[in-house]
Order: sequence, then structure tokens, then C-alpha cells
Amino acid sequence: MRRVALALALVLAALSMANGRAQSTPPALTILSAEGRRALPLTVINNQDYVAVDELASPFGTAAREAAGGLTITAGGRTIIVTADQTVVSVAGRLVPLPSPALRRDNRWFVPVDFLPRALSLALDRRLDLRRPSRLLVTGDLRVPRVATRVEGGTASTSVTFEIMPVTPARVSTEAGRIVIQFEADALDLAVPTLPPQAFVSAISPADTGASVIIATGPRYGAYRSSSSQPDASSSRLTVELLPAATDLAAAAAAAAPPADPVRPSVTLMPATGLRTIVIDPGHGGEELGAQGPRGTLEKDITLAVSRRLRTLIESRLGLRVFLTREDDRTISHDDRSAFANSHQADVFLSIHANAAVRPGIRGAEVYYLSVERADAEARRRAEDTAITLPALGGGTRTIDLILWETAQARYLEQSSTLASLVEAGLRARVEMSPRAVQQAPFRVLVGANMPAALVEIGYLSNPEQEQQLATSAYQERVAEALYDALTKFRGLLDRSAP
Ligand SMILES: [Zn+2]
Repeated sequence: MRRVALALALVLAALSMANGRAQSTPPALTILSAEGRRALPLTVINNQDYVAVDELASPFGTAAREAAGGLTITAGGRTIIVTADQTVVSVAGRLVPLPSPALRRDNRWFVPVDFLPRALSLALDRRLDLRRPSRLLVTGDLRVPRVATRVEGGTASTSVTFEIMPVTPARVSTEAGRIVIQFEADALDLAVPTLPPQAFVSAISPADTGASVIIATGPRYGAYRSSSSQPDASSSRLTVELLPAATDLAAAAAAAAPPADPVRPSVTLMPATGLRTIVIDPGHGGEELGAQGPRGTLEKDITLAVSRRLRTLIESRLGLRVFLTREDDRTISHDDRSAFANSHQADVFLSIHANAAVRPGIRGAEVYYLSVERADAEARRRAEDTAITLPALGGGTRTIDLILWETAQARYLEQSSTLASLVEAGLRARVEMSPRAVQQAPFRVLVGANMPAALVEIGYLSNPEQEQQLATSAYQERVAEALYDALTKFRGLLDRSAP
């Protein structure tokens, strides 16, 4: 990832492709409420998900009327003022920015889908939680845990691990050759990897109704064993191990003692520390390939491989919680990556990339942290592009200053700078560095991160020799060790500064 404009273009390209795919079934959000599920149609405009304002009347009891070149929406007794082509709305006098402008098309008004959690939720004084990856809008007090699924296996057995946030009890049972995991929840915000059929697992999918996940078993499956733990106060973990038909479960249990797999430490190994949860972000993925080497090596594959190695090192040696923003080859937006880190209450966010340059001679690793000055300048420039003039209630207009809310990273700049220096030192001891080893840049993926955050470019895929290196497990392991080293030292600093 080099320039914001390029990164943005890639995201837009990826989104347009995703939308192209989605055209066979019209896109919709599923509203989950105490009354049940209902679909809210989405309209894709300029590659963004929009909602028609008239569609909000039935599920949310809103009323809208046009006035003074704008639209006034009444919701929950409060007034929302929307102006065509503006990226800010007023909710009971409070200004709420939106990621893309409200639009008037064919006599209908459209607002970006973020209008729901940001503006409508405020007016209704009701929780509207947008779970973008699963296209859910969770309202009120419903229990809809996020469940991330990981599959690890070999020839002897396969483990399916569910990371569940917040802590949610689950029951495992078998039913017609399938393993059913029933969660005590109203619905699930579920992420499952798409995998080719394997010896023990042929597919993992959500049940058609309720809050269950079904593991369809493969030809070698004979028995299962499940265990659960609570890595910390905010999440639980359930592991279902699928074993061959001939397994004597008692013998297997005895052989497995002590129960903690050394690669997956149990809760007792969790240290008390200021650094407990790490989110690693494998750059790019899915339709978004990232940089590409002359021999065809793809950045998205390298970043995932290094991220997985790093997770294994951290989990096996430190016993900290590690989440990857993607477990497999899928497209995720920059905002969803930092949102993932925020919702997992990560203490550190590390985004991993490989670089490309026009000149093939350029090489070496680089580390970045956010430049707020430049991010602000960019935001101001964007704000100037669209002067913010709102119709005032009672007629007339007023011009307002756009107040940025997306500066979560600003307060962590000092820690992020320290983190970047430690990452640089770790890398410098093991791999070749670029002459400009630590830099500041307004990377979109870092802006919304509510914790110390850095982005590392682990080498240049555009350099033929580096492309070859980057694809080797030896180089990937050196990078993982370097990042592990940096995170260990960073944890040490946090511990010392803790009260
Ligand atoms: Zn990149």
C-alpha cells in the first residue's frame, strides 16, 4: 500500500466487483429486533451501500418531508435534517458526518447505510448496531455475539475453534451425522472460512434458523470432543475437535493431558498485563490483490502467511489473544479492519503489507504510523471540496465547520510512534531495511484504530530478488520473529507504565 489515493482506488475497485457479484440477489440488510428479522433493501450508488429514506418509515416509524432544498425526517420525536449532496446531517441540532453524501435520485432520497447507526440511532435513542461483514443491523437489547471461526487440522484430527464475543454459552450435540453448536443467543454475527471439503470437515455453515452453527462432517470423522475456555472477561472460546472413527475417546483424553495444547495456551497462562489482545491485519485480500511481483506473487497471500506465523508465535510463547482481521482470502474495507480491532478491544493493531514501486531497484522494509497533520489536511481538503451548508429549521441556511470524529488514532500517536520504532528495530536486526525505515503517513486503515497502531511494509514485491525472498518461509519467519520481538518489547513498556 503506497498512496492513499491508490489504496482508495483499490478499495473502490474491490467494492464495485463485490457489488457486481451481488447484483444477482438484490442487496439488503437484515434488521434483527425483538420482533424478528426483516429485510431492509439496499441500493448501490457510486459503489456505496445506500438506503432509501422511504424504506425507513415502516421499520422505524420515521416520517419525512422536503423543505428548503433539504429533507426533514422525524424519528423518535426528533428532527433529522438531510441535505442533498452533503456528507453531514443534523440530528436534533447535533451534526453527524457521513462517509458519503445524501442523494436525491428519481424523486427519492437516499442516505448511506452508516446513517442508521450514526444518525437514526441517535434520533431514536436506540441501539442500531451495523455489522457490515454479515450485513446485519442489530437493534435494541438482542444478544448477537460475534463468532469468528478457525479451522486447523492435519491427518490425525481437525479442530474447529469459535472465538465468541461477548461471552456466550454454547451447547454441542450431534444430529444426523452433523455436529450442531447451539449458542444461547438471539442470532449470530458469524464469520466462517470457506474451505474445500476435508477429511474431517466437509462444510461449516449457519443453521437456517436460530443461533446455531452446523459442522457437516467428512469421510474420516468418527467422534468429537469439545472444550471451552474464557480467555478474558469479554470473550469465550469453544473448540470442537473432530477425530477419526477408530478413536477411543478415553484414551485420546488421557493422551491429551495436560489439556492445554502448547500452541493454544489455556486461561491459566494468561499474564496480567497492559497488553492482552493483539489484532493483526493481513493487508488486502479477496478481490483486492494488493501489490503484485513480476513473477506473480500476490501481496494478499504474503500478508496472510506472515500474519498466521506471527499469531502462532505470539499465542505459543506469550499466551496473548490474537485475532486476524481476515482468516482467509476475502475482501475487507479499511474501515472494517480498524472497526474489527476496536470491537475486539485490541491493545495493539498491526497492519501487514508488502510494497511495490515503479523502479524495480527499490527494496527494504518500512514501518508507518499515522500522521495526524496530514490526515487532517486531507480531511480539510475534502471538507473544502464540499462546502457544508445546511438548511436551518424555520428557513434560511447556515454554514458549519465539519468536525471530524474519525480521529480515534490521534490520542495514541505517541505510543504508535514507539511501537513503530520497536518494529523497525526488530526488523533491522533480521531483514534489509529501506533508507526511509520509519515514516508517518495518513493511512486510512490506521485512522479509526482506537489503540496504538502501526503499518509495516515487509519488503518490495516489485524487486525481483525481494519477491523471491518474500515468498520463502524463511523470510516470512524472520519477519514474524521481528514483529514478535517488537510486540514483546512494547508489552514490556506498557507493563512498566501501568499503575
Ligand atoms: Zn498493501
